[in-house]
Amino acid sequence: MSVLSKLFANSFQLPILEANCYETIHVWNPSCSGALIDVIPQGLKFCLKTYGLFYLISGLIKKGDPRKLDYVRLIKDIIRSSVFLTMNMLILLYSMCWFRNRLGFFTLPTVSFVATILASFLAILIENPKRRPMLALYLTNLASETLYRQLVNHGYLRFIKNGESIVFAAGLAMSTYFYQRYGEKAGELCKLMKFTHHLDNNAEVFDLRKMPRNARLWLNILRKNFVKHRICEHRHSCLSVALESGLRNFGYGLVASLALSLIKSVRTPSKVLKNIFNSEVLKMPAFFASMPMIYHGVECSLNRILGRKTNVTPIAAGAASGAAMILYPSTSIAMYALWKGFEMIYFKAADDGLAPKFKYGDILLYALSTGFVLGNVIIEPQAIRKGYLNFLRGLTDNKLDLFNRRLFTKFGFDSNLLYINYVPNLDLRYVTLNPAHYLPQIKPL
Ligand SMILES: [Zn+2]
Ligand SMILES: [Zn+2]
Repeated sequence: MSVLSKLFANSFQLPILEANCYETIHVWNPSCSGALIDVIPQGLKFCLKTYGLFYLISGLIKKGDPRKLDYVRLIKDIIRSSVFLTMNMLILLYSMCWFRNRLGFFTLPTVSFVATILASFLAILIENPKRRPMLALYLTNLASETLYRQLVNHGYLRFIKNGESIVFAAGLAMSTYFYQRYGEKAGELCKLMKFTHHLDNNAEVFDLRKMPRNARLWLNILRKNFVKHRICEHRHSCLSVALESGLRNFGYGLVASLALSLIKSVRTPSKVLKNIFNSEVLKMPAFFASMPMIYHGVECSLNRILGRKTNVTPIAAGAASGAAMILYPSTSIAMYALWKGFEMIYFKAADDGLAPKFKYGDILLYALSTGFVLGNVIIEPQAIRKGYLNFLRGLTDNKLDLFNRRLFTKFGFDSNLLYINYVPNLDLRYVTLNPAHYLPQIKPL
């Protein structure tokens, strides 16, 4: 044991922590297997509830009628996904104990990234292969957000105001490029942009036949009485394409925003009115509306200034429309757009033989990104998105907050920042450390 610890300490320059796993990780139960069994019931209950609702709602959206749902398949899907998520948690806990018991001490990799990547890799093999790419994308998104926050926390990056708009603009620019060259089939984001930015020049924004008489009159004035530049390829006046698509998006955004406020008010019905009549509700519609307005505004203006069609014009317009995010800052949406852009570049390069094709790329991506996120949940939880931490709290019955993170600070991270006053309630019969080591005010080991 001591030879190994010397090897780690001297050769790899890794600090080691000789505390046992009870006083470090599973402070709720001194026995490793007992601690594992303790987390199963709540974990499974949480997963069944979450996935039950998820599969039911997505099934209903797909089929539109509850009688058309295949309930046997639904139950199989719910059980498979629940087992996957519960196992991700159990394998992680098990492997942390396994490494501690084999080595005789903890090191940074064995208490975090090696254990978390291994657990995520083994768990994703259980999940339905069809769901793996979606999970991989979601976790890659979350991992990049975590890394960004971590770099800011450690002072490597300055927090850039409206930084997410720049990231969003980069994603939209890449997507516009692919849309121009390969159409909506180039990727999911192209399909989405075709709708949000009204990229299809042959389509009408509003169908006049379905409009009330007054609206028809106004729209006709807007379409016919204003100028359309000779290079522009949209159907009616330049003003109409920008205003109509903005107006339509505002409507959809408002419905989505109100629906979200109603869902938020389910737990506190007394706040319904306060949640609905709130200027916050208008942020999402304003964001949706300004995207196509900026896009068409910039495209038509550049057509006028340059006097000819260029390949760069739509890409510049796409990038400029990223500025809409100033109205509704969202790191998740920005990162989604960026990763979707990179994904399109990768798929195109792989198709052209310029990049290797990975058959199991989604498994690898999930394992690495989930491993990275979970590793940080253990050693630097302040870098994780709050919503995701709360999700994990539900899964672990709040046990993720019980780790004795004060001991991890010796690995060089500010692991205890969120838990300054927390002291684990340990049974002294199973403790090897002097309690002074994990009490506040006193410098840890
Ligand atoms: Zn243990
Ligand atoms: Zn125009």
